[in-house]
Amino acid sequence: MADSKPHSKLSVQKLVLIGYLIFSFDTNSVYSDESKLSAKQSKTLKETFLYLETLEPKKIKIDKTTYNRHTQFESHFKFPFSGKKISRWIQSRIKKYNYGATGDYVAMYREGEVLLGRGFFTLNRLDRVLILLHEARHADGKIYSHVICPDDFPYLNTRDWKIHPAGKKGCDSVPDGGYGITASFLFELGAYGYLSQTEAAYRYNSEISRVIRD
Ligand SMILES: [Zn+2]
Repeated sequence: MADSKPHSKLSVQKLVLIGYLIFSFDTNSVYSDESKLSAKQSKTLKETFLYLETLEPKKIKIDKTTYNRHTQFESHFKFPFSGKKISRWIQSRIKKYNYGATGDYVAMYREGEVLLGRGFFTLNRLDRVLILLHEARHADGKIYSHVICPDDFPYLNTRDWKIHPAGKKGCDSVPDGGYGITASFLFELGAYGYLSQTEAAYRYNSEISRVIRD
């Protein structure tokens, strides 16, 4: 019993140290390797996250019944809508950024790394957020791999009309894959008035069109 005091002091020190280690580990988990990007590209990426982090829930601008009918964000992400949380969600999944040829795609995910094509840096900030959100979902495993879109897939690609998803691996068979989560994100932006209903709807429809049922 006599030496119980020094022991408890030591425990406090240990706890502080453990707390510090957990904190620094947590901070590191947000760090991503951007060494393959130019300073300008890195800046564009940073601006993308800063923009995302300004998007926080506000008063819902649409009719509540419609909101309740279509909102899926929380069921997909398991947390309420928050740009800051989505930013962390993406950053905990994408650990490395690279730049290079991406063929028919704007970006590609592979083993914790996202390869960004030239097109990514010419997109507006919202489209860049959507791309990162989509790619980050691929970090959650094979269940979110794409399936082949039907040969008669009739929808236009909103970003590039030269890209034809028909017969290509550009669709999802799960509701919460890369396309389902971007759709749910866009719906919230429309509901909170960050986007007009027209813009939110056409963007939402475009993403959700890639979610197909077998
Ligand atoms: Zn994808």
